[in-house]
Amino acid sequence: MPKLTINEREIEVEPGTPVIEAAKRLGFAIPHYCYHPGLTVAGSCRMCLVEIEKAPKLQISCYTPVAEGMIVRTETAEVKQARQAMLEFLLINHPLDCPVCDQSGECELQDYYMQHGLHPGVMQEAKVVKSKKAFPIGERILLDQERCVLCSRCVRFTQEVSKTRDLGIFFRGDRSIVDTVEGKSLSGNYTGNLADICPVGALLDRDFRFKCRVWYLGSADSICPGCSRGCNIRVEYNASGRPHKAGGDRVMRLKPRLNPDVNGYWMCDVGRYGYKFIDSKDRLRAPTAPEGNGSGPITMEAALDLAAEQIRSARGELSVIASPQMSNEELLLTDRFFRVGLEVGAIPWRVPPPVPTEGDGILLQADRNPNTRGAELLDLDPAEADPEKTLSGRKGAVIFGHDLAGRPEWRSYLEKLEFIIYVGPLANETSGLASIVLPSAVYAEKEGTFTNFDGIVQRFHRALEPLGESLPEIEILQGLARRLGVEIPSDDAAEVG
Ligand code: SF4
Ligand code: SF4
Repeated sequence: MPKLTINEREIEVEPGTPVIEAAKRLGFAIPHYCYHPGLTVAGSCRMCLVEIEKAPKLQISCYTPVAEGMIVRTETAEVKQARQAMLEFLLINHPLDCPVCDQSGECELQDYYMQHGLHPGVMQEAKVVKSKKAFPIGERILLDQERCVLCSRCVRFTQEVSKTRDLGIFFRGDRSIVDTVEGKSLSGNYTGNLADICPVGALLDRDFRFKCRVWYLGSADSICPGCSRGCNIRVEYNASGRPHKAGGDRVMRLKPRLNPDVNGYWMCDVGRYGYKFIDSKDRLRAPTAPEGNGSGPITMEAALDLAAEQIRSARGELSVIASPQMSNEELLLTDRFFRVGLEVGAIPWRVPPPVPTEGDGILLQADRNPNTRGAELLDLDPAEADPEKTLSGRKGAVIFGHDLAGRPEWRSYLEKLEFIIYVGPLANETSGLASIVLPSAVYAEKEGTFTNFDGIVQRFHRALEPLGESLPEIEILQGLARRLGVEIPSDDAAEVG
């Protein structure tokens, strides 16, 4: 491997590595706009210039591969002057939008000016080119042409990743603009990534716009539950202490996290904008259970008492239906408690979706469950759940998450049961039919792991407190097991894992 020196420190890296990446590994962040490690190199913005000994002039570090014995300096007077000149050039035509720009706080023009600029303007005349301000170019994205620094990341993204070829750079010189090809709308399932890769506030996420200043965001590393790919994400939530003006939503946005083996730098729009169920009005916030002739509010402890009594009364005549939406830890405890502890027999979990779903050939998988592979690897029933086989002749059922009562082939069997205990985060026809509803936390409110379709086990972390009185399934299972005198592993997801 070539050995080189950057700012007097030695490093060995794989042949072909660009100098900018080698410098990053040593902790030297070289400013850049057009370079993005997930895209081909354009070498056009000239922000990443560095000094390389024996080279006749400054070199762009994004396009220069490392070489044996190379000596690189990233902070010389000449380099700093070149950066300042590039910033000055970009700022001539940039509007002073920072106070009202959503990118403020995570803008690479703002940040680089503070880190590498702080120079007085040298232009004598105002040469501001006026372009079109924020206008929609797709269902999810707005374009503000005035703020664009023409880095071409977005254009390359639509050519190389989404393959939609929706964007181009038109006209020349200081009249150049980014726009959609033939004025068409953005297409495909990956448009949200454009707002992520735009280094300035030129491409804006319509869903996130004006919701929250980025410095008020809290963040937790997580795994998208939208399909069996399991893209690595960050759940970013309102940590300002003040409710969001649109009313109480806690999650502000999802962002992809780099994992070269799973999702690279990207995530799909289905997953990115699928977070709204977390604070939706359909969330179950409190348990319900029989009270007199109807179903009424009750504490979680009392609901668990009643559920444990019903489970005890149905021993030998109980069915349990688990779900591939559950984490590995939850599935394992379900198996240990019901199959091993209460001997209910094999636990089915595989219920085909009412409407078949398709993948998109990029990241999105046809299987919209995050943990099908995890369920397959545990001792659960590998066969598809069948209403006759699963429910006929049974006294009661514990159903995790599935809306089985919404399907005619299941409903008639469910209606014959003496009781249904529904454990899940969302209200549906099954929770409506259930005698006891135990509301459970969603992935962003608990710890656990999913195993993706490729067999990669990935951990997600809690970003939020469980809504209302809902509890992680692990705590619900532990509460039931305690009441029924069954020993199961700890209620700590990390320990179960
Ligand atoms: S819109 Fe953003 S990503 Fe596209 S060229 Fe302009 S600055 Fe770059
Ligand atoms: S590909 Fe699947 S896991 Fe990735 S963001 Fe989309 S829905 Fe989520």
